[in-house]
Amino acid sequence: MTDKLEKAEKREKMEKGRRLALVTGAGRGIGRAIALKLGEKGLDVAVNYNNSAAGAVELCRELSALGVSAKAFKADVSKAGDVSALFKSVEESMGTVQVLVNNAGITRDNLLMRMKEEEWTDVIAANLNSAFYCTKEAIRGMVKSRWGRVVCIASVVGLVGNPGQANYCATKAGLVGFAKSAAREYAAKGVTVNVVAPGFIETDMTGALKENLRSAMLQQIPAGRMGSPEDVARAVAFFASDESEYVTGQVLAVDGGMTMC
Ligand code: NAD
Repeated sequence: MTDKLEKAEKREKMEKGRRLALVTGAGRGIGRAIALKLGEKGLDVAVNYNNSAAGAVELCRELSALGVSAKAFKADVSKAGDVSALFKSVEESMGTVQVLVNNAGITRDNLLMRMKEEEWTDVIAANLNSAFYCTKEAIRGMVKSRWGRVVCIASVVGLVGNPGQANYCATKAGLVGFAKSAAREYAAKGVTVNVVAPGFIETDMTGALKENLRSAMLQQIPAGRMGSPEDVARAVAFFASDESEYVTGQVLAVDGGMTMC
């Protein structure tokens, strides 16, 4: 796209008062559902992905069909350099990020006694460092415009623990402390920071689980079913909206009643 066209698009967006959301790891799963839900609500969406572009490109096509702007941006959000380049590209081509969804995440499960150092550090980098880098980049613009929404995707296992996931649970619990601290820092500036903690959600991440584990998990869910990415996306859309203006530093479990803590 030429500079002139990009500038015209940015101007049109500002005139219409449309907001821009950045969703990390949005090529598939929960991130994809979040991006689509925000698009349905009329937000433009910057779609971050790190591996295959195909999912992100298809998602942008679906978002454009909803009448909002969408662009795909490749970046490994576990790397500070990638994140600053990501925000630079988004700012230049779409404008200032007003809604940030820290969704990207990985698992590297192992019992603590066997856990290798890189299984620990990779998960910390992808799930927790990424939120620090992205939120730090986004917050300045949000404070400047006196409006912003940050939503971190944690997990109920970050609240209650899970054997074989000490690394993952540490990052998800870390996100809660991170969000609450940022919420306190920026509440007076019109910026809210909240956490959505999904339970057992049907995605590629849980698709890899063995059948006996899946049925054992199902028995612990009062709602009697696994969650869908859309269940999570609806909660994120609330935190991303004006409706949640007076709600900050909160953790909302979307788990069919599994934990109730
Ligand atoms: P998923 O594996 O389907 O999707 C995760 C996405 O994040 C992928 O597209 C992946 O490429 C991307 N990603 C990973 N590392 C990245 C990086 N460094 N940079 C950029 N993108 C990166 O998993 P999902 O189930 O959709 O999970 C999304 C989020 O929800 C994760 O944070 C996960 O921990 C959390 N969560 C999932 C469940 C569940 O049951 N599926 C439950 C609780 C929390």
